[in-house]
Amino acid sequence: MSLDQPQLDTSPPVSDEVRKTTCYMCACRCGINVHMKEGKVAYIEGNKDHPVNKGVLCAKGSAGIMQHNAPSRLRAPLKRVGERGSGEFEEISWEEALTLATDWLAPVREKHPEKLAFFTGRDQSQSFTSFWAQGFGTPNYAAHGGFCSVNMAAAGIYTMGGAFWEFGQPDWDHTKLFMLFGVAEDHDSNPIKMGIGKIKKRGARMIGVNPIRTGYNAVADDWVGITPGTDGLFILAMVHCLMKAGKVDLDYLARFTNASVLVNEDAKSDEFGLFLRDADGQPQVIDRQTGKLAPWNGKGVEPDLSGTHRAKGITHRPVFHQMADRYLSDEYAPEAVADRCGIPAQRIRALAADLARVAFDEAIELDRPWTDFRGLKHDKMVGRPVSFHAMRGISAHSNGFQTCRALHVLQIILGSVEVPGGMRFKPPYPKPATAHPKPHGKVTPGAALDGPHLGYTHGPEDLLLDTEGNPTRIDKAYSWENPMSAHGLMHMVISNAHAGVPYKIDTLFMYMANMSWNSSMNVGGVHKMLTDKDENGDYVIPHIIYSDAYSSEMVAYADLIFPDTTYLERHDCISLLDRPICEADGVADAIRWPVVEPDRDVRGFQSVLCELGARLNLPGFVNEDGGQKYKDYADYITNHMRRPGVGPLAGFRKGKDGPQGGRGDVNPNQIQDYIDNGGFWVEHVPENAAYYKPFSMDYQDWAVKMGFYDAVQPYIFQLYVEPLRKFQAAAEGIGTRQPPEHLRERLKRTMDPLPIWYGPLEDDQIDLDEYPIHALTQRPMAMYHSWGTQNAWLRQIHGHNPLYVPTKIWEANGFQEGDWAKVSSTHGSIVVPVAHQASLNANTVWTWNAIGKRKGAWALDEKAPEATKGFLLNHLIHELLPPKGDGLRWANSDPITGQAAWFDLRVKIEKSAIPNEAQPVMPSIKSPVPKGPSNLAWKVGK
Ligand code: SF4
Repeated sequence: MSLDQPQLDTSPPVSDEVRKTTCYMCACRCGINVHMKEGKVAYIEGNKDHPVNKGVLCAKGSAGIMQHNAPSRLRAPLKRVGERGSGEFEEISWEEALTLATDWLAPVREKHPEKLAFFTGRDQSQSFTSFWAQGFGTPNYAAHGGFCSVNMAAAGIYTMGGAFWEFGQPDWDHTKLFMLFGVAEDHDSNPIKMGIGKIKKRGARMIGVNPIRTGYNAVADDWVGITPGTDGLFILAMVHCLMKAGKVDLDYLARFTNASVLVNEDAKSDEFGLFLRDADGQPQVIDRQTGKLAPWNGKGVEPDLSGTHRAKGITHRPVFHQMADRYLSDEYAPEAVADRCGIPAQRIRALAADLARVAFDEAIELDRPWTDFRGLKHDKMVGRPVSFHAMRGISAHSNGFQTCRALHVLQIILGSVEVPGGMRFKPPYPKPATAHPKPHGKVTPGAALDGPHLGYTHGPEDLLLDTEGNPTRIDKAYSWENPMSAHGLMHMVISNAHAGVPYKIDTLFMYMANMSWNSSMNVGGVHKMLTDKDENGDYVIPHIIYSDAYSSEMVAYADLIFPDTTYLERHDCISLLDRPICEADGVADAIRWPVVEPDRDVRGFQSVLCELGARLNLPGFVNEDGGQKYKDYADYITNHMRRPGVGPLAGFRKGKDGPQGGRGDVNPNQIQDYIDNGGFWVEHVPENAAYYKPFSMDYQDWAVKMGFYDAVQPYIFQLYVEPLRKFQAAAEGIGTRQPPEHLRERLKRTMDPLPIWYGPLEDDQIDLDEYPIHALTQRPMAMYHSWGTQNAWLRQIHGHNPLYVPTKIWEANGFQEGDWAKVSSTHGSIVVPVAHQASLNANTVWTWNAIGKRKGAWALDEKAPEATKGFLLNHLIHELLPPKGDGLRWANSDPITGQAAWFDLRVKIEKSAIPNEAQPVMPSIKSPVPKGPSNLAWKVGK
């Protein structure tokens, strides 16, 4: 054999250039390296230096190349020429499109700014779009959160100053027991997968609580197949067990929560249920050293959990007493809840015991000194290594807010929030509800709104009501129907606008929200609302403007389309002012930039808003001379200042000695600095500030230096949420701002300041014997946006979606492989393929959401499996609850936050003859783009 081996290049260059940007195939916002060959995208890999994914890339991320090249991409601005809903458009110039939009919107702003409803979907520019809407002067702005997971976000902010995912994460390096509630694999993706990998490597245990065992639950050590809508009951039963066994962190509760704050217990007092406060308005505790009253944050105060204070004939007891009264009650004993939850009492007890054992017997300590806000120096950090993560599964119910609150109470009594091994916040969180703005809705024709739209209410005085007590927002957010609707109610906008309640609108303007298909309940009804005409033959919703990158189902229902770019062709900033990409150990933000130029006549939507804002003369979008202030979104990202020293991007700001992080002046080269740094900026939290963030002066000082807020603002966790009590008290007749009579009982029942559980509201209004089965959806790991099902690579993973049926129901109906079933709710029926799944709650069926597509949309073939076998469960869900005979229709939402109650759905199921296609079949829509080829293939480079 010759020793002369040929010289092989084992690593030939695969690209001419690598451009680093941020993925948008889901909301995790991983760093990606886009390899370019001859100016085209050749392939995508993970960025090893990026704080979010550290090089990990998922199937969605690598399939971004097919997203960027999707045949369904819109090519030019479009004006409707056929009837609304037909999909008949003509291409027009940007000048014509912007002139038309200005002609519609300018008179609206001049006379009735509220007649513009501007709502966005899963975009990542909400601090910018809300700024635009504020300048326009409409109160009607919100994004996707109201129909996604506002219960989770709002419960977290009101209770702890932050929730999971974008606000917080488990301490993956130290946790020993990780419990996951209601998490599908889209929320979130790479970070959770990496975290689970880390804890499994260390031998830590993972428990999944979910009616469905797929994805993360499939790799959990234990799976708890809970009955949908009962998570709160299960959690409070564990709270009961822990309190009964004395397995709660008393020191943590006394120091860092309002368990020690005194509450008025005189039912006859107008202050009943409110905190005892001093002359400065500070809630009072009893100081253990003196036995006297003291403010919760007094220097050197040692709050007492057990003292009682009586003055002027009124008894005040600490919150902890109320918790004991409530949660030690037999109502929450495992035996009392087991059947309803579908979990044996013994198992509930065992799980609670596991939490206690790990939290207290396996506690950890880090040798890191820190100082708390009362001035007490601690020489180490004590960790309770139990951590949790939860998402839409527990929040998309009409009892979701209180359920999410219950989970936070469970975490807090274990002392496992912001400690080593527990849940950690991601800067700039935590931030208590009081540090957020209140909602604003005061309309002045021709002028800006009086402040930011979305915020946190602290009592009836913060509701957005007119002088007659009617809601001032089209979605009725911040009204007595949903007093704490921190993200608005996008799912009610079309229905309310069509009904003209509380008023009619002129223009519905939406971005990236597929509201005529997978993002709406009652799909057929929504089509009718969008196309209905009045007695004069005019559309009931006169104008609809929509922006999307793709020929989605919603396009056909708009009058004017602004074609957006793909995520590789645009500027974006993933801002600390919005939903940042930070990790618990570091503050970080990131950009997208056009790694390729569009080959179509399309523009980034945010750049379009810069120009439209100038044409409409919106404050913040014009210079003093009336000229356009921001040439495009990149210009806004660089030059906009929200507060002195604070702009959309916190990295590479101009400092005395060159670019600096946190506060700083405008740096004209900022975007290039980000590009040079790989598309992101990160700064690490100092070691002694890494835990106890709400209570630690080390963290608070650093947060002020970084510009998260302007003055230190330590706070304690709110086990007892006083603002809830204020709404409840109003329903009892206290105060001048009173709810309408028909809402009193519901407010009294649901707005409890300590977490409670009540059954899903739909259960009270339907015959549960007729509709005994729960029906759910999940988004799959391989898809996040509804874009996913037209992606040539991802379609091969999920081309259609069966309805998964548990063994008991499968056998009772005599189903065989290949069968179809008719599934009915009180609202409608669908006929769909079924498949057997044993790892499923015995009374639950489910399917993947947003796989089914409408014929004619997304440039797919009309015979594509997505359009023939794929289906939506949305046809079975109504935005209103069934009538209950009182002449009123109640929203199918959480009564506190207005979150869409997608997962309260009840159905019945029966075997069906096999139809040609999944039913119902909607008429095909004409597509403004040609159908894609049957094979998508091309060669980049030689
Ligand atoms: S997890 Fe999400 S952001 Fe990260 S690579 Fe996958 S799709 Fe992209």
